[in-house]
Amino acid sequence: MTITEKYIQLILSYIDDDIETELINGLISYKFRCPFCTMYVQSDESRQKKCASLAPIKDSFDYKFVCRRSWSSDCRSRGGGRSFYNFLAMYNPALFNQYKKELNLTRGRNSGGNF
Ligand SMILES: [Zn+2]
Repeated sequence: MTITEKYIQLILSYIDDDIETELINGLISYKFRCPFCTMYVQSDESRQKKCASLAPIKDSFDYKFVCRRSWSSDCRSRGGGRSFYNFLAMYNPALFNQYKKELNLTRGRNSGGNF
């Protein structure tokens, strides 16, 4: 499991207790109710719609966040979605700081020891 995958699991447990998964190109994509715009939706039926997803980006270990409803300025997609990095920074800054730290640690280990 990559660090990104680990944090995706963490953030999903904050977002919703009912996450749908879908296999795309052999990678798991996660669908859930958008944490940014579901509160603006009036009807219960639409509110249950899993309009947002975290989908793997082809040929990378990264994911992108896309909300098909795009009702709030935070989930409106420009250029086909937001990176998981930015999504986490917006949604949960505390967890984002941990994520950044962990990414830096790994980078340090892999850089071949310049110290
Ligand atoms: Zn949304």
